This record gives sequence, structure tokens and C-alpha cells, in this order.
Amino acid sequence: MSPHVLILGGTAEARALAAALCTRPAALCTRPGVRVTTSLAGRVAKPGALDGDVRVGGFGGASGLADWLRAERVDALVDATHPFAESITANAARAAAETGVPAVVLRRPGWRPGPGDRWHSVPSLDAAADLLPRLGHRVLLTTGRLGLASFAHLSSLHFVVRSVDPPEPPMPPDIQVLLARGPFTVPGETALLREHRVDVLVTKDSGGAATAAKLTAARALGVPVVVVRRPPLPDGVTAVPDVEGVLERLGLG
Ligand code: NAP
Repeated sequence: MSPHVLILGGTAEARALAAALCTRPAALCTRPGVRVTTSLAGRVAKPGALDGDVRVGGFGGASGLADWLRAERVDALVDATHPFAESITANAARAAAETGVPAVVLRRPGWRPGPGDRWHSVPSLDAAADLLPRLGHRVLLTTGRLGLASFAHLSSLHFVVRSVDPPEPPMPPDIQVLLARGPFTVPGETALLREHRVDVLVTKDSGGAATAAKLTAARALGVPVVVVRRPPLPDGVTAVPDVEGVLERLGLG
């Protein structure tokens, strides 16, 4: 029987993995009957093209995912979801344990502060909101369109919110929305911070190059950055940092 790899996606790494699996000499996608399926939650209105098959929408918790793994005869599960997608990562670990399907977690490394950075590390969006009024008044918020509720009570601050799709209420009253999808450049981010007279930046520790330019720009302009720390991985789960690590774990390196 040909192998079937399920990638839990929604990230650039998941896209790169699907492309790598579909173009390798071992040729998962080019051998007849072999399947690579990427699963998306369906949060983004227009996701980019993906190699292999794509399915969209939740599975119905860990047991629903386990059912899907059995029904679709999945041979390997790769959790390549965003570092802050905590529920699906917990579900993937439980479903893999329940079914015995080998699982790999792909997580890009987090960002690290360098000389000149003025970072404030916090454990949650609520903690970021608590800290903000002490740091500035004009905020660039890049934590995603969901989760603005944590900042909704901060009526004395001006928020510039950047997200891929329009944010949904509840949200702060003084808000300007910029719809944009990375990658972003240092000159572009520097111009953005200057244009909106941003004096504090809020970000999750997403890691990766596509959205790191804002950190370089903030450092150069002396803008403080509130960095929301990642949730921990489930007990006993370790991650590989890149596509090559996944391919090695799958025996395709
Ligand atoms: P989450 O809180 O961990 O997941 C909530 C529920 O959404 C899960 O229980 C699952 O529903 C469904 N789900 C999540 N990812 C899925 C996937 N890849 N395929 C099928 N169902 C999925 O996740 P989230 O933080 O809302 O993120 C949703 C998606 O957006 C993830 O795939 C993630 O990679 C991507 N993303 C998230 C962020 C972020 O900051 N959180 C940023 C960029 C991209 P069921 O229980 O019904 O299976």
C-alpha cells in the first residue's frame, strides 16, 4: 500500500513540506496512488495554492481526527501548524497516541532578542494588554485578527491592527486596520512604524523570516516590543525545526 501523509497546515512550513514531499525523487505525489493531504482550519478566506490534496475544516476534536486517520489510512501525521495553534497540536498528539500513527511536529524556532532590542516577554495576550499603557500610546498590533478582545478595554490607546483578513469584534475603539500578508521588509516596516508614529509593537513569538522585519525596524527606531511567549508543546512531544528534519523522521531525508 502506498503511503499517505497528513500535514496539519496553515503555515509557510506546511506549504514547503507539501511541496518537498511532492517533488522529491522518492516522489510521494508522483507515484500512482500515493497521497499527501494538507488540512486547513478554514480561517483564511483565500489560502494560497498547495501541492497535493487539501481538506478544509475541523475534525471534531482528537477523536474526530483519530477517526479521520483511520478512515483515510494515514501512515504519518505531521503537525506543521502555527506555534500558537494550541488545541490542534494537543488533538494531534492525542490522536496519534490513540491510533499508533507515527507523528512529527514541525515548529520553526522562536525569535531571540539581540543587542539594542527592548523586548518585554509576556505569557499571554491579556498580559500584553496589562503592560501596554505603561509602554506607549500608539500600538502596532500584529497578533492576528482573533484575540483583539484582550485589548478591547484600552480606550485611551490608538491601535494599528495588521491582519490577513478583517478583524472581528470585540476590539478596541480607536483602531485602524491594515490588511496585509507577509513577507514584509525592513524598509517597509520602518516606514510603517514612522508613518503611524508607532511607539510600541505587540507580536506573538511566531518565529520565521516572513514577519521578522518588524523586529529589526523596531530595534533601529528604539520602539519597545511586547512579545507573547509560545504555549508549551504537549507533554512528551518534541519538535523538529525545519522541513529537512521532518523528511529525516519520515525516512525520506
Ligand atoms: P487552534 O486553536 O489550535 O484550533 C482550534 C480548532 O480549529 C481545532 O480544535 C480544530 O478543530 C481546528 N483546526 C485548527 N487547525 C486545523 C487544521 N490545520 N486542520 C483542521 N482543523 C484545524 O488553532 P488556531 O490558533 O485557531 O489556528 C487555526 C489555524 O490557523 C491553524 O491551522 C494554524 O496553523 C493557523 N494559524 C494560526 C495562527 C495563530 O496565531 N494561532 C497564526 C497563523 C496561522 P477540531 O477540534 O474540530 O478538529
